[in-house]
Amino acid sequence: MAKLYFRYGPMGSGKSAQLLIVAQNYRDAGRRVLIIKPQTDTRTVDIESRIPGVSAPADLVAAPEDDLFAAIGEIHAKQPVDCVLVDEAQFITAQQVNDLFLVTVRLGIPVIGYGLRTDYQAEAFPGAARWLALAQLEELKMICRCNRKATMTARKRPDGSFIPSDLDENTQVFLGGNESYEALCPIHYIEWVGDRRFLR
Ligand SMILES: [Zn+2]
Repeated sequence: MAKLYFRYGPMGSGKSAQLLIVAQNYRDAGRRVLIIKPQTDTRTVDIESRIPGVSAPADLVAAPEDDLFAAIGEIHAKQPVDCVLVDEAQFITAQQVNDLFLVTVRLGIPVIGYGLRTDYQAEAFPGAARWLALAQLEELKMICRCNRKATMTARKRPDGSFIPSDLDENTQVFLGGNESYEALCPIHYIEWVGDRRFLR
């Protein structure tokens, strides 16, 4: 039975690099992978990792209104697909996560999403909430400055200061490189990023 997997981790946990390694492993075994990325990330159609030179183009750039079950079904009918990989998986819509769940059930193709669980305000992205509800979960590890496991993603201003999690300086969908984000352990997230919802 093909399954839906959500491999989640904070910024810098190597999600895109892992996706590219999995894609290469499938290709080396003579199998076909389909790489999807959401249109939200318009910086490039490539899947880019922090490792220099490690990147690959997406096969499908998904707009929010796209029916991913129909799109993958059409591609699969022409040439069978062995695995579907989704980069920045938190940015596809909840409906599209349903579409992908149907891909595993009706087409028998495993689907692996790589993404963030929460934004810098520690709120689940709508797409991530659906992944968390439907998928098998696997955590990608990252460490905080203090060497504890980092589970939270904090956002930083250009001067390096943290943006408090209860301050809405931008929308949830904000794209930036690693310089704009830092993965923190819960202790330092509360200490440095703060949040009245936790502290009252
Ligand atoms: Zn820490």
